[in-house]
Amino acid sequence: MKPVCVLGNGQLGRMLRQAGEPLGISVFPVGLDAEPEAVPYQQSVITAEIERWPETPLTKELARHNAFINRDIFPRLADRFPQKSLFDSLNLSTAPWALLDSPDQWPELFATLGDFLIVKRRTGGYDGRGQWRVRPGDEKDLPTEIYGECIVEQGIPFDSEVSVIGARSQSGESVFYPITHNLHQDGILRTSVAFPDANPVQQQQAQSMLSAVMNELGYVGVMAMECFVVGDKLLINEIAPRVHNSGHWTQNGASISQFELHLRAILNLPMPAPEVFSPAVMVNLIGTEVNNDWLNLPLVHLHWYDKEVRPVRKVGHLNLTHTDCLKLKDSLDSLIPMLPNEYKSGIEWAKTKLDWYSRQ
Ligand code: ATP
Ligand code: MG
Repeated sequence: MKPVCVLGNGQLGRMLRQAGEPLGISVFPVGLDAEPEAVPYQQSVITAEIERWPETPLTKELARHNAFINRDIFPRLADRFPQKSLFDSLNLSTAPWALLDSPDQWPELFATLGDFLIVKRRTGGYDGRGQWRVRPGDEKDLPTEIYGECIVEQGIPFDSEVSVIGARSQSGESVFYPITHNLHQDGILRTSVAFPDANPVQQQQAQSMLSAVMNELGYVGVMAMECFVVGDKLLINEIAPRVHNSGHWTQNGASISQFELHLRAILNLPMPAPEVFSPAVMVNLIGTEVNNDWLNLPLVHLHWYDKEVRPVRKVGHLNLTHTDCLKLKDSLDSLIPMLPNEYKSGIEWAKTKLDWYSRQ
């Protein structure tokens, strides 16, 4: 098997490395501190776990490498302007938007997009950073340096948020996981829930939208598409040309995880559609120290990233999966007192999703 080099060495690179291990695929996440001699980049296939990576002589080498899969697609998706333009050109529904170049635009923006707007940095934002919620009057408090650097979007009064994760092979075939239901708080993903059999209409809609994007780009590998659900319609929020936080449940809830699927795609290995046998819940650990008590619960899979714990930083996640929703809910109930209070609402939300599923 060819080795794989990953631009970036955060948790996604770490989990790609873990997924490669059983298949005999050596994965080398490359961060700022990577030593070029330790990375066999000449013989490797190159991928990325982030849209923009720190520039070092080695990462520059990797970023222009011919074996960097999707190399020319990254710049188009790492900037919200070409990304949103792509949705428009494919006639895919997305939150109405405009480029934000000057403060003079505000009256017209409120008139055309409405009274609740979200300013987003074109590049570099994540976990809700680099965003401003703006209602009439708030615009004067915005930092002046954002003009020319941002887009502005209509605030969507969505019913809920979902994502779909798919992967496209080198021969152009795509496979998908069932839709994931996501709860974000303050712009950061807290909890995801997925079921083996998603709503077929929503699933079909999501797959055809993501397929349109992947086919247009000639993309290879795992791509995630985040959507707002409004009635029976999906609006694309954003896409990510990589493995994605809302797909972490696949590590324990699917026959092939998103990390393994991505490696299979970029290495041109077989990629049958992953099987999902039971409901799965993922709880993001955000700024919370590890607690061995979680391991008393037999359904809990702890994925700890070994990062320094800081407020609002993703430091790990817990996956739980079981065919019996009651067992899953019991386990979630037992987790609540083992976590800080701010986890409670996200876990209760997951339980309501499981209740809804049990009633189907
Ligand atoms: P990620 O960590 O997924 O990369 P991000 O920082 O790039 O996140 P977005 O996904 O654009 O940011 O926004 C984060 C969250 O903020 C969304 O999941 C959603 O809850 C909310 N949000 C973003 N855009 C809108 C919008 N136009 N209308 C309503 N809510 C929005
Ligand atoms: Mg997002």
